[in-house]
Amino acid sequence: MPHGECQCRIKVHLRMRPSSKPSAALHFDETKAMVRIDVQKKQSNVGGPPRSYTDQIVFSLDSVIQTTNQETVFDSCAKKLVEDVLQGYHGTIMTYGQVGSGKTFTMTGDMKVYAHRGIAPRAMHRIFQEKETKPEAGIRVQMSYVEVYNEGIYDLLQTRGEPAGSLMILEENGLVELRGLTKMPVENEAEALKLYFEGEKLRSYSDHSLNQMSSRSHCVLTFYIERRTGIRTLQDVTEAKLNLVDLAGNERVKKTSDYRGHLRREAMAINKSLTFLEQTVYALRLGQGYIPFRQSRLTTLLKESLGGNCKTVLIVCAWPEDYFLDETIGSLRFAQRVK
Ligand code: ADP
Ligand code: MG
Repeated sequence: MPHGECQCRIKVHLRMRPSSKPSAALHFDETKAMVRIDVQKKQSNVGGPPRSYTDQIVFSLDSVIQTTNQETVFDSCAKKLVEDVLQGYHGTIMTYGQVGSGKTFTMTGDMKVYAHRGIAPRAMHRIFQEKETKPEAGIRVQMSYVEVYNEGIYDLLQTRGEPAGSLMILEENGLVELRGLTKMPVENEAEALKLYFEGEKLRSYSDHSLNQMSSRSHCVLTFYIERRTGIRTLQDVTEAKLNLVDLAGNERVKKTSDYRGHLRREAMAINKSLTFLEQTVYALRLGQGYIPFRQSRLTTLLKESLGGNCKTVLIVCAWPEDYFLDETIGSLRFAQRVK
């Protein structure tokens, strides 16, 4: 299907962290899936003293959730998309938000507490359940896991041999391929989880990972699911991809005073790649002829997973506190633009 005919609007959910000190200016309505923020503005009247007034910004989303319950989040944001992938669609789920807002908690979860496992392990469970209960479908699953950092793409499943440098993107007939990418065949849930953990370890130990690294890179976990569609021939096979993307934090550069030198450049690189993501998704939504995929590694990598035969879910994570109101508004603006 050409991109211009993409019928699949992005579903956008907001997950608020629980808070004991929510901002009085932020009002959200879970049933109406709406957020309203009161912002103080100052207007200077010619001749008179500046007058202060309140403006309201309203955001409407597909759902607004405030819960620590991970099952509820999976059921309301991810379940449908995972089922669609099992039906042959490509699917992408992304978490977006500032550092500490709950992106990794939402995607990966707290793996030490079983009930707190996030979307990725729950999706794995569902995929392998399908594989086991429908042997006639001959489902085969492969997995890859990469980290996009400062416009480099690093393989997180390459655990043997010399640590490799950035993977090269190859584009052929409009399809994107990463040269040398490890695509691991996985038989069951336990194997997939083990690989996922190993990938996580590599992510935090590799030498391009300085402290707090995980917040400064985008992580893309991909499942390639092949299933037989024809009963008579073994050749009739469809491949669907499920991408689970934990995006880098959308930090405001100016807030942290010690953001100097390479940290500042790094933050700017992140903001740039998130802006390109926004532009790409926005162009897809409008059905424009030209989609600016090639502006960044992240959008090139996600090319087939954002347009065309693809379903996309964005989960925006946010703090409800006053201190983070600017960031929350920034995240909600992103959500509104791509929705
Ligand atoms: P991010 O990945 O956005 O930087 P994390 O997911 O690492 O943020 O969250 C920071 C901390 O807050 C973690 O310890 C996490 O367990 C906790 N946390 C985040 N969101 C929630 C939530 N909705 N409910 C309970 N704990 C949460
Ligand atoms: Mg994180």
